[in-house]
Amino acid sequence: MKPIVIIGAGIAGLQAANVLHEAEIPFVLLEKQAHVGGRVQSEHFQGFILDHGFQVLQTSYPEVQQSLRLPDLDLSYFDSGAYVWKENTWHPFYSPWHDSFSILRALGDGMINIPDVVKLARLWLKIQLDSKPLSKSTMTAMEYIHSLHFSPTFQDGFLKPFFYGIFLDETLSQPASLFVFYLKQFLEGRAAIPTAGMGAISNQLLKALPEDSVHLNMEVESLQEGKVVLKNGETIACSKIILAANPTAAAYLLDIPLAKGAILQSKTFYFSADSFPNEGKLLHLVPKGEGSNILHFACLSKVNPKWAPAGKELISVTTLKTEITENEVLKELGQYVGQEKLNWKFLKAYSIPESLPKQGFWKFIKQKAHKKGIILTGDYTQYPSLQAAFASGRMAAEAAIS
Ligand SMILES: Cc1cc2nc3c(=O)[nH]c(=O)nc-3n(C[C@H](O)[C@H](O)[C@H](O)COP(=O)(O)OP(=O)(O)OC[C@H]3O[C@@H](n4cnc5c(N)ncnc54)[C@H](O)[C@@H]3O)c2cc1C
Repeated sequence: MKPIVIIGAGIAGLQAANVLHEAEIPFVLLEKQAHVGGRVQSEHFQGFILDHGFQVLQTSYPEVQQSLRLPDLDLSYFDSGAYVWKENTWHPFYSPWHDSFSILRALGDGMINIPDVVKLARLWLKIQLDSKPLSKSTMTAMEYIHSLHFSPTFQDGFLKPFFYGIFLDETLSQPASLFVFYLKQFLEGRAAIPTAGMGAISNQLLKALPEDSVHLNMEVESLQEGKVVLKNGETIACSKIILAANPTAAAYLLDIPLAKGAILQSKTFYFSADSFPNEGKLLHLVPKGEGSNILHFACLSKVNPKWAPAGKELISVTTLKTEITENEVLKELGQYVGQEKLNWKFLKAYSIPESLPKQGFWKFIKQKAHKKGIILTGDYTQYPSLQAAFASGRMAAEAAIS
């Protein structure tokens, strides 16, 4: 029996492979890089654990709960909320769903007002009562946020900057339905990172697979009827093809031009320091202003000291501008941490031109794949997140089996 070929060993491809393996269906998983994980990787660097771009695992994602052995990942959790910059000071703002007294503190600090609390409660109720809230809305996340009429402090100090970081997009032009979906996950679940870094997620999926089923450094160059052709000239005959490559690579293999604006980029810098001014396990949301480049920064070693060597702190700083340098980042951070205290040592930066796909750009790829009998999977086939990568990987394997 010819195997099913899976192209790409990111989360979606690894998940598809695991589902086929459980069903005892023969498959081969081909990955062009020397390692699996795609966008979910970690690196050990001078005693620090650095993820390739700041990202978190939302424990409330249904597919995450179904597909991963979470206790084996030894998760460390962020607190729910963020530091908000107001009147030249960082104020911790904790989610009222995780800490009911926090709302009083936020009211006292003037970060939120009573009408905001009422509007938030109404929004929460809407999310609870409707399984797919705003699924028919044509509004963007930005338009929807504006329609809620929150106070400028809550909207511009917390809500918008928090979602700039989730969407990796300062225009918030993704659908409003995606905004409420993510909001629900953050209200109900928790954001976590494994002790060994996000790459532990990919490694857990890999470990469950037979060794001889995963082939690294194997780049697929073209797709043909009943076979795939590798860049090294080899061909592999197959019963079906599951295309789990990232959007740009999938578009190339299907010979479809990718529209401008379909992919969002980001860059994460890592710094080490002897100390860090704030104790909370929270992101610091940098307000959007003229000349501002940074989205957020966090002291990751406050969340898990094992991500840094003893006596050191690990700080991540994320921006959407891939051309920006560590010196520009440090200069901008000076106003939020104090230039005189800012003797952070630059460790490494990860520039990720293909960080997240945007919704609404994938119709032609899907149509072409369908026409050619190729099963597509990957976050972009649903929405940008690990949940979608896991879910679409499972669906692709099930489609290949049926
Ligand atoms: C900076 C950043 C922050 C993020 N933050 C979050 C977050 O906080 N929460 C969240 O849920 N999600 C987050 N995500 C999104 C999440 O990481 C992705 O949705 C998910 O990893 C996508 O997995 P995938 O398998 O669909 O694609 P990919 O990870 O892109 O995998 C595709 C694989 O295909 C391989 N490939 C490509 N072409 C070929 C070829 N021709 N032959 C063989 N192999 C090929 C690639 O090398 C790659 O390994 C973030 C992503 C980034 C980059």
